[in-house]
This record gives sequence, structure tokens and C-alpha cells, in this order.
Amino acid sequence: MHNKTPHQPPLQVLIIGAGFAGLGLAMRLRQQGQEHFLILEKAGEPGGTWRDNSYPGAACDVPSHLYSFSFEPKTDWSRRYAPQPEIFAYVRQCIDNHGLQPKIRCNSEVAEAWFDEEAALWRVTTTDGASFSARALVSACGQLNRPLYPHIPGVERFAGASFHSARWRHDIDLTGKRVAVIGTGASAIQFVPAIVPKVKQLTLFQRTPAYVLAKPDRAYSRFELALMQRWPWMQKLDRGLQYLYHEARGVAFFVLPGLMKLMRGSFLRYLARQVSDAGLRAKLTPDYPMGCKRILISNDYYPALAQPQVAVVSEAIREVSEHGVITADGREHAADVLIYGTGFTASDFLAPMQIRGLGGLELNQAWKDGAEAYKGISVNGFPNLFILYGPNTNLGHNSIIYMLESQFPYVLACLDKLEQGVRYLDVRKPVQDAWNQRVQHAIEHSVWEQGCNSWYKNAAGKHTNNWSGFTFSYRRHTRHPDWSAYDLVR
Ligand code: NAP
Repeated sequence: MHNKTPHQPPLQVLIIGAGFAGLGLAMRLRQQGQEHFLILEKAGEPGGTWRDNSYPGAACDVPSHLYSFSFEPKTDWSRRYAPQPEIFAYVRQCIDNHGLQPKIRCNSEVAEAWFDEEAALWRVTTTDGASFSARALVSACGQLNRPLYPHIPGVERFAGASFHSARWRHDIDLTGKRVAVIGTGASAIQFVPAIVPKVKQLTLFQRTPAYVLAKPDRAYSRFELALMQRWPWMQKLDRGLQYLYHEARGVAFFVLPGLMKLMRGSFLRYLARQVSDAGLRAKLTPDYPMGCKRILISNDYYPALAQPQVAVVSEAIREVSEHGVITADGREHAADVLIYGTGFTASDFLAPMQIRGLGGLELNQAWKDGAEAYKGISVNGFPNLFILYGPNTNLGHNSIIYMLESQFPYVLACLDKLEQGVRYLDVRKPVQDAWNQRVQHAIEHSVWEQGCNSWYKNAAGKHTNNWSGFTFSYRRHTRHPDWSAYDLVR
């Protein structure tokens, strides 16, 4: 594959993925007058997670003023927590407002990329055989883009339809059907209440109960919308207040995780008010510290589980049969449709793309013990590769958009450096190691290390996904690249 010679002149920047990260960086490049970039998007249209996750009830659990770009404010969100169609429309609006459509090449899944040291260029090939060259390669694929299908014996035997929440089959009418749902994470707690009213029976297979709190959601009044349109600073004020509120929660995640015990007490009182059936309440009571897995918010999840046509099954799943799901006690739970709310292969990051750096080093090999990157962005041995929302930059307490907006200027500064006579920049190994030791040390004292399994860790138990501090502290770290951290090859 390496001998394909690209016919086009090399690009300055090639971005992989047209979701929030890739589009946000593209908007920033445009604003700086940089036109020599292209976004490769594996799907037929842009939108990332907000294109993929179109399941009923999908919404963002971060308020929309905070979950939107500070440099592309929207003053007319219909609700505090906008539903997926509105967020997806916002993404398309960003593309239109910044004329990005011609810069996006859809149906272009990157198969491999290798760093041609002699030319100081990334050579990129897509699965359809097209090839590209670029001085810098930016991964903007996110952490949650590949559905995780559980390895349960017998799934191929199931006679009915089955699909993953991120690949929702809108063509399948669930009305009057017996539906089995596996998983009780952030996705399931949104789609379960949305489908309960139409199904005949819903069996929810729960391996670990979640902490689900009340969602402070409401529609914005016409008066509020008019005020924000008249005085856009009011939207900024609301965003700022929401930021401070969310950031303050970080204290309980990684400064004083003991505080979560107090919060658990108030959760248990809330659960008692929500679920009157003692047996169901016992099933829904988590036995691990609050915050260790993502804290969820919903006003209709617990009420949905109390409906007569819903059964919560906490018995382990043994196998899937032709007609349903069989649990460890030998019972077969009949189902016409099986829905996987089982999450994503979050710790795989850029896999299955083959990324080869200096000396042919393969990224998945460099990361065999778990992904890590300097500031979540740069990886030793992979010069001029920049990762957005990379290792250890996910959050449990605030908006990822804020993290992305910390990463954009950092990457732009690195790109500027490449225009100043530097052929490539490669983060130094000792610097990367020291950074990661610090990150891992902080995580050891966080609530994520207090005894639970979560997608924040890889199979070996290494925390590859979360940032272990305040987002303003990450912003300080990423404000200016420290060039002494890099080998600058001229
Ligand atoms: P998830 O949080 O990883 O939840 C997956 C669920 O499937 C868990 O309950 C898990 O149980 C269960 N599961 C996985 N494999 C299983 C198996 N073999 N047998 C039985 N149960 C199994 O996935 P998600 O709900 O899709 O959410 C992933 C992340 O996406 C969230 O944490 C969040 O960051 C993001 N998200 C955000 C929003 C939002 O509103 N912003 C909405 C949806 C998703 P265990 O807990 O026991 O592993």
C-alpha cells in the first residue's frame, strides 16, 4: 500500500473525522485563513456522534449553551438540554456558516497512514484506495465512535432483529413487540423511557446499576429566547454559570472523592422517592461509589422501569437463543427484538486504522499497554500527528467542547511552527512519560479508582480515557506548546 503516489500536492492539514472535533478545528483553520486542509469522513455525512446516535430520546446530558462552541454561539436552543436532532442541526449549521462542505470528503474511511520521514509528510490511504499526503495529520475520531457488541454466546442464533443503540434501526417498528435491551448506561437510560410506551414488553438486562439523578431540564420560555436574541451576552452569561457549576463538581471527582459519600446519601433518598417497589429499588441500588462510572441524569428512566410491561433482570446473561435471552438461572426471556445499549470500544482510540510513525512504528503496537499521549495530543514517534479528544482527555464532570477548545489553539500553534522552517515535531519520550505518570498518579486518587469497571479503563485496568483534573487546569497546560518538550527537526 505504501507505494501509491498521491497525485495531489500535499495538504497542510488532513483531519480524520467530521464531528465536533474535526469541524471545530476546521472552523478555527478557516478563521486563520488556512485553506489547505481536508476532512476525511468515514460515513456518508458529517456529524460524528450526533449523526450516529439518533436513537429515540437521544439528547446531550450537558446543557446546550455549554455543549456548543464558544465561537459559534447559538441563542435559540429550544431547551436547556437540547435533543439530538437539534444538536445535529447545529453541527450542520456550523458547516454552512463556515462554508466547510467542500472541505469534507465523505465515505472516506482511513485505512492506514504512515509518516514518510524523507518527505516529512503523512501518506494516508482510505479503504476505497484513494491516497492523500499532508504535512500534519489530525485525528478527530473521538473516543466513542465504534459500537461495542458484547461477546455473548449464541447472538448469531437470534431469529429477530438486533441492533446497537448507535446504529438504531428506525425501519423497525417496536410497537407491540417484546424487546430485550442489554445495558443500562447513558444511552440506554435515554432510549428505554422513549420506547416503553409503545412496546408490549421490555426486558432490561442490567449488569451494573447506574446512579441516575434528576435532570434539571426545561424548555426555554419565549421571553428568555427573546432576551438572549436581543442581548447575546445573556447566553454567554448562562454558559459561564453552567461552566462554573459543572467545574465545581470536579472537586468530588478528583480532589475530595469522599464527598461522593454525601452525594450517595441524597441519591438514595431520591431513588426511594422515585421507586416505591422495594425489590426493584434494591436491584437499582449501585454498590460502588458514586461517580466511579458516569453519573447519569434522567427524569423518566425510573418511572419507565416501574411500568407493568417492564422487567429489570439483574441475573447474568448466559447466552442468546433463537427466541430470546437466557440468563444464568436457565430462564429464557422471550424477545422479538434485541437492542444493545452496550457502549463503545472507547480505549481503542485510533484502531482499527493502521498508523505508522518513525521507523515504521505502529501506533497500536506503541499503545499495546494502553493509549497515552502528551497532553492527550502528541505521541512520541508519531511526528506531526495531533489527536483531538485523545487519551486521558475525557471528562466526568464538564463539557468535552471546552476540552476541544483547549486543544484547537495548541494544535494551531504546532501547525504554525511547521510553517517556520520546522519539518516535523516529535514529542520527546521522557516528557511524554513524565506527563502520563502525573496523569495516572492523579487518577489513582480519583473516584474512578474506587472500585468499579468502566469504559474509562482498558482491559488491563489502565485508565486511558479520563482527564484527572479541572478543565481550566488542562487549558493552562495547553495554552502554549512548550517547544522544549519536542524534538524540532529542521
Ligand atoms: P456505557 O456507558 O459503556 O454502557 C454500556 C452498558 O452496557 C453498561 O450498562 C454495561 O454494563 C452494559 N454491558 C456492556 N457489555 C455487556 C455485557 N456483555 N453483558 C451485559 N451488559 C453489558 O455505554 P453508553 O450508554 O453507550 O454510553 C457510553 C458513553 O457515551 C457515556 O458514558 C457518555 O460518555 C456517552 N454518552 C453521552 C450521552 C450524553 O447525553 N452526553 C448519551 C449517551 C452516551 P457494565 O456497567 O456492567 O459494564
